[in-house]
Amino acid sequence: MANLTFYGAIEGVTGSCYLLNNGKSKILLDCGLFQGRREEEEANLKPLPFDINEIDAVVLSHAHLDHSGRLPLLVGQGLSCPIYMTYATRDLIEVLLKDAASLQQRDAEWENKRRRRSGKVEIEPLYNLNDVEDTLDLCKAINYHQKNIVAPGFEINYLDAGHILGSAIVEVYIEEQSAVKKLVFSGDLGNSQAALLQDPELVATADVLLLESTYGDRDHRPMDETLQEFEDVLEDASQNGGNILIPSFAVGRTQEILFRLGELYQKGKLRQQVVYLDSPMAIAVTEIYHRYQNIFNPEDRSAMGGSNNQQSLHKFLPVLRYSSSTAESMALNNIDSGAIFIAGSGMCNGGRIRHHLKHNLWRQKSHVIFVGFQAMGTPGRALVDGAKVFKIVGEEIAVKAKIHTMGGFSAHASQSQLIDWLGGFTDKKPQLFLVHGEENAKLTLQTALKSKGWNSTIPTLNQCIQF
Ligand code: ZN
Repeated sequence: MANLTFYGAIEGVTGSCYLLNNGKSKILLDCGLFQGRREEEEANLKPLPFDINEIDAVVLSHAHLDHSGRLPLLVGQGLSCPIYMTYATRDLIEVLLKDAASLQQRDAEWENKRRRRSGKVEIEPLYNLNDVEDTLDLCKAINYHQKNIVAPGFEINYLDAGHILGSAIVEVYIEEQSAVKKLVFSGDLGNSQAALLQDPELVATADVLLLESTYGDRDHRPMDETLQEFEDVLEDASQNGGNILIPSFAVGRTQEILFRLGELYQKGKLRQQVVYLDSPMAIAVTEIYHRYQNIFNPEDRSAMGGSNNQQSLHKFLPVLRYSSSTAESMALNNIDSGAIFIAGSGMCNGGRIRHHLKHNLWRQKSHVIFVGFQAMGTPGRALVDGAKVFKIVGEEIAVKAKIHTMGGFSAHASQSQLIDWLGGFTDKKPQLFLVHGEENAKLTLQTALKSKGWNSTIPTLNQCIQF
C-alpha cells in the first residue's frame, strides 16, 4: 500500500506540500511557503514534520512561492535529492527564489535592528542567496508529456495546467507489488478565459486526485465584460489626461495585462502614449514568458507574430517601456498625465507601486486599476474598500483618484471550470481530495460536486491516507 500525507495548503491556500511513500521510496509534491498573516508565516519556522534525509525526490507543480518557496530552507538543512520541474518553472524559480531570499534577508536585518535596541536575541533569515544557489544546483528540468522515473517505484508525467508559465498537473504512477496506482495532483489549474496560456489539459483516469479549490465557491465574471470595462477605464483616463496605475504581481497577471494592452493597441483603441513596466523582477519574468511562446495558446501566439523572442511583444505593444534602475523609476514620478504604470507589489504593501501611488493618488484625474485579489489588511484592500487617506513613509496622501477593481483576470479556474475539468475523468473516477482552498471555498465546492455525483473528502493537516 502507498500512502499520502497532507502537510500544507490544507488550512488555506499556501504552504503546498504532500508526501508520498510507496514503501520503497518517498517523494514530496511541492514544498511551498506559508504566506499571509504573521501567524500563518510563523508555520515556516516550525521544524519540518518529516525527515528530509529520507526524501528521494521533490516534484514541483509550478514556480509560485506558495508551491516552491520552502525549498531553499530544506536544502539549507541538508536536502540533497533531485528537484523535478518543467523547463519554464526552472527559469522562473531562479528569479522568484532569489527575490524571496533578498526580502527575507532585508526583513531579518530590519527586525534585528529592533531586537538589538531592545536587548533581544537576533534572528536568522529563513534562507539566504547561497541556499538558493544550492537549490538551483539540484533542479532537474523535464518536458511536458515525457514520463520520468524520479525514485524507485515512482514515475511522473507533467501535463499543462495553464495557470502560469510552466505550471503542471502532475501524474504520478506508483508501483506496488502487483499493480500500478495512479495519483493526479492538479497543482493550480488555470482560468480558461485568461490570455497567453493553454487551457488545463484533461486527464481521463486516476485512482486518487488532489484538486485545488481556490475559487471553489465562485465563478469569474465573463472575460468579454472584464475587457470592456478595462477598455472603458482606459478611454475615460485618456479623455481627462490622467495617469493609470496598475498594481500587479510579477508572474502571470503582468504578462496578461501587457497582452491585453497590446490587443487594444493593435485595434487602435489604446490612446495612452506610453506603458511603463516599472519592476526589474516583472521585466525578468516577462522576458522568460516570451522565450517560451511555444507553450502559449496558438491564437495569442500568432497574434504576436508567432516567434519566441522579446521583440514580438514590443512589436505588439510598441509603446511598452521597461524601467529597471531606481533612477529610471524615480524619473517617472515627474510624468503627470497620459501614462500607464505597471508595478508591484500587487497588494501595494511594498515595491515601486507605492511611489506611483504617492505621486498620483491625490490627483482627481488619476486611475488605479486593481487586477488581482487584495487580501484583508493590505493597503490595496484599504483602497478597494474606499480609504480616503493612504499612508506612505510617514506622509498622508489624500485619495482623490478613481479606484477600479477587475476580478475577471484571475489565474485560477472558477468553480464551473473546476467541475468541467473533472468531466475529463471518463475512464475512471478517482478518489477525490479537495486541497488549496479557504474553508468556505472547499465546502461550497464539495456541495456543488455532490450534486454532480462526485464524493469528495476535505483532508486535515498531517492526515495520512492509504490507497
Ligand atoms: Zn499558483
